[in-house]
Amino acid sequence: MSTRYIGALDAGTTSVRFMVFDHEAKVMAQAQKEHRQIFPQQGWVEHDPLEIWANCAEVIRTALSAAGLTGGDIEAVGITNQRETTVIWERATGRPVHNALVWQDTRTDRLCNQWLADGLEPEIAHRSGLPISPYFASSKIRWILDHIDNGMARARRGDLCFGTIDTWLLLQLSADRRHVTDVTNASRTMCMNLETLDWDESLLAALDIPAAILPAIAPSSSADALGATAADGPLGAQVPICGILGDQQAATVGQACLTPGEAKNTYGTGCFLLLNTGQEIRRSAKGLISTVAYRFGNRPAVYALEGSVAMGGATVQWLRDEMQMIDDAADSEALAASVPDNGGCYLVPAFSGLFSPWWRSDARGVLAGLTRYVKKAHVVRAALEAICFQSRDVLDVMLEEGGVAMPRLNVDGGATANAFLMQLQANILGIPVARPAITETTSLGAAYAAGLATGYWESEDEIRSGFKVDQVWEPAISTEERDTLHASWLKAVDRTLNWVD
Ligand code: ADP
Repeated sequence: MSTRYIGALDAGTTSVRFMVFDHEAKVMAQAQKEHRQIFPQQGWVEHDPLEIWANCAEVIRTALSAAGLTGGDIEAVGITNQRETTVIWERATGRPVHNALVWQDTRTDRLCNQWLADGLEPEIAHRSGLPISPYFASSKIRWILDHIDNGMARARRGDLCFGTIDTWLLLQLSADRRHVTDVTNASRTMCMNLETLDWDESLLAALDIPAAILPAIAPSSSADALGATAADGPLGAQVPICGILGDQQAATVGQACLTPGEAKNTYGTGCFLLLNTGQEIRRSAKGLISTVAYRFGNRPAVYALEGSVAMGGATVQWLRDEMQMIDDAADSEALAASVPDNGGCYLVPAFSGLFSPWWRSDARGVLAGLTRYVKKAHVVRAALEAICFQSRDVLDVMLEEGGVAMPRLNVDGGATANAFLMQLQANILGIPVARPAITETTSLGAAYAAGLATGYWESEDEIRSGFKVDQVWEPAISTEERDTLHASWLKAVDRTLNWVD
């Protein structure tokens, strides 16, 4: 029998990539492409769904041909995606009716405040596990329907379809153009009931979301619920699609956090700390959210407590693209290391408000503590520190409410390539930070979801035994210094609040 592989289509916030893994999780092929970040107004962030799909098709073809592989070498494909980002298209033509509203977009602030004023929060939190925030898909669905011609009427008639990016890509990839999402992505809409794992009629009624636009909800790993790729598509063969996981859930699986009490933090566009809570839905009183970690086949769902930070690596992108302080994200490392400290300067990148644990959509970014002494390197260092402080604020709550000891933090994501950032993180947390040998955990998690469904990987134990740590950073500052830095950070966070009326 010839060797076969598992493919993962990873549609992240900044780029899409296609990776092919072998049984030992070795990367056999990969290609990646960035897509445009569209900022039409302050606080608005859009992507072009057609561009994302075109880039996906391109990276699939490029990765396969560069490695001398064909679709016939791929046993199954998994999809992972930036979550919450909302696309609506015409059912008949598949044409998007608007650009995708990205998870960081805050334009639906007013609608969310209205829902808060209407007293909907307790019921929404109880049923969906989520606080009311522009971050989640439901207010974005409403905004699009309210801003296109006859949106609500067309949606009620069943002429329009909603999907997160997984659903949009499954529509394009699957031969029979399926309208399906997985349970992890559905858990980010504010419309799914965490207990029943189905759309919740009373939430749909309260938020005025027409049920006719919603996709079916499938398990994250399934041999038959997701169809197969079209023979005339980018894979050039009918390959079963057997997994879908939201990107943070995929990284949780890719880091083999498959046992209650295990956690990981991903440093991508945002930072997302997820703690596996097993079959129990844990509820936070201090700003963490309850979400589905994964559901493999027809087995019970596994849940997670999550701390979500909107601006992680995106803070570095902002330094690069908007401030032009660096040419490349990687330059942040040498520049930040060129100064002995932050020079008293703190950057709080509350550009989309603050997510966990604060949930303040009225917050906006501040650069605090400026004096004539502060130079570019200090600001760059403050940006890296901000990523670490935000993760610490989430971890503090996780430790307090999660009831777990965390002897070390497992990390992954694009920004973990920055060793100086990882050292800062260990210093600011006061616990070691461990990076796995395979840092492409998001793609790997999607591959695992697909490969578990076909029996390519036999069991979760097989996944656990494949996990290896590559590098560990130990804390290298005193508790006193750590606490002093953190206290100043919290003062700066306070300055961001009550900015938007
Ligand atoms: P996503 O999946 O959200 O698109 P990735 O995991 O691909 O994100 O990581 C990309 C993010 O990591 C970008 O926001 C980028 O600015 C940041 N990043 C990449 N390399 C570095 C680096 N060496 N130092 C700091 N940040 C980095």
